[in-house]
Amino acid sequence: MTDRRDGTGATVLIVEDDVSTRAEVARNLVAHGYRVEEAANAAEALRAWDSRRPDLILLDLGLPDADGLLVIRRVRREATTPILVVSARGEERTKVEALEAGADDYVTKPFGIPELHARIRVGLRRAAGPAADPVGILRNGTIELNVAAHEVRVAGKPIALTPHEFRILALLLGYPGRVVTRGRLLRAIWGEAYAGEDHYLHVYVSQIRRKIAAADPDGELRDLIVAEPSVGYRVRNA
Ligand code: CA
Repeated sequence: MTDRRDGTGATVLIVEDDVSTRAEVARNLVAHGYRVEEAANAAEALRAWDSRRPDLILLDLGLPDADGLLVIRRVRREATTPILVVSARGEERTKVEALEAGADDYVTKPFGIPELHARIRVGLRRAAGPAADPVGILRNGTIELNVAAHEVRVAGKPIALTPHEFRILALLLGYPGRVVTRGRLLRAIWGEAYAGEDHYLHVYVSQIRRKIAAADPDGELRDLIVAEPSVGYRVRNA
């Protein structure tokens, strides 16, 4: 079960006030080859951030001394270190706030350890470099998006997307395995004034899915774009 190659020595700062949860996650990450720093509140988290500069931060948002958002804003002023937020079920607004403040992604309590590891790997990989290859082609399974040529191919055959559909798909494919908030997509495509127009996205994403499905008779890309209710969309990990 244990795979020490997983962590390859990356340091994860675990910010969590619940002692037993923190200890359990720490034990598990250490068993998978990660180095671990622990903080029980926001003040300790910022001290650990200043002195240790972890490779990734696992951040519980409900802390006893301050809002977890404060930690996100402080870290983001100084670095692009991946931040994975841990939130309780039903806290969609909080999750969105955290993502818009600069968090990379979230897991919802109670989360499974495999899910946690998958999210951490995605975060660390994102930090290691961009998703596109040097010639700007984003790939995920049998789909290929060529940024410069404005072309999308499914199993080698081009599909026709409108400019908006293309930009939405490019944004999503650029962050494999990570959630992209609806606000971020809307602002990127239509600008600040449209940040609340969620129904636009729903329509466009449905169109994109339909066009991909039409070119994908074996359904290999059926699970490519996953909706994260009230938060945004995520493409599966490439
Ligand atoms: Ca807590």
